[in-house]
Amino acid sequence: MQIIFFTKKNILIISFFILILLLIFFLYFIPNFRLNPNVKSANAEPVSDEFIEKIKELTSGSQKIAYLTFDDGPTTSVTPKILDILKEENIKASFFVIGKYVDSHPEIVKRAYEEGHYIANHGYSHNNSILYKSSESFISEVKKTDLAIGKAIGIEDYCSHIFRFPNGFMAPLYKSQKEKAVLLLLEMNYTYIDWNCLNKDSERKYTNTQLLNNLKQSCENKNTLVVLMHDTKDVNNSSLVLKESIDYLRREGYEFRNFYEFVS
Ligand SMILES: [Zn+2]
Repeated sequence: MQIIFFTKKNILIISFFILILLLIFFLYFIPNFRLNPNVKSANAEPVSDEFIEKIKELTSGSQKIAYLTFDDGPTTSVTPKILDILKEENIKASFFVIGKYVDSHPEIVKRAYEEGHYIANHGYSHNNSILYKSSESFISEVKKTDLAIGKAIGIEDYCSHIFRFPNGFMAPLYKSQKEKAVLLLLEMNYTYIDWNCLNKDSERKYTNTQLLNNLKQSCENKNTLVVLMHDTKDVNNSSLVLKESIDYLRREGYEFRNFYEFVS
């Protein structure tokens, strides 16, 4: 038996099967690994100049990439629906969460994180009079939010590295306070990001068709998009047009990514 087993032909066959097994192993594990990229690297790594520059230059990129971002959650009514659609579409997005809602619904943030979405910081109270009351208050709003995220996802000292100002940095209100806050963010290892495309879901009540048209108009003649939507239903419910919005952007040739690629 042994002699037969170790013939040249059999060794070749065995080697071939080992090769096939290795191939299956890599084909199965590598894509899975990439679907959940760098989830731990948002944790307390210092923000490099390169990272800040990449985020700053993001919307001037020439590639057709869409970074979907959802603000003001988590909410039990909308966030899970958005997560379901993103899962079906195999898209990783970024969520700018409000700290006090993370404390109320940590399980939703945990789900979003485990499904490969970037969890970024939108302040604890979403209340400008608290946020800009003093430097200490601003710092506390940011840190309390990351603390809540860290608790929800089980990572101590979680640092989300990316902050979004309520109403955006570009809004004229609280301009001088925001300029000072940018320096505080830098000291804390953060940068900030606005958006260059939106469906206006928080501005006033629109029909679903109007929401979709707002998005189409807003992304016209733009390459890299940072798309602002909300995972709330305070004014409109973007989860009802998310699938159509994704279909439209795909038809227009956009590829979807999230901010993890910058913290690897
Ligand atoms: Zn907001």
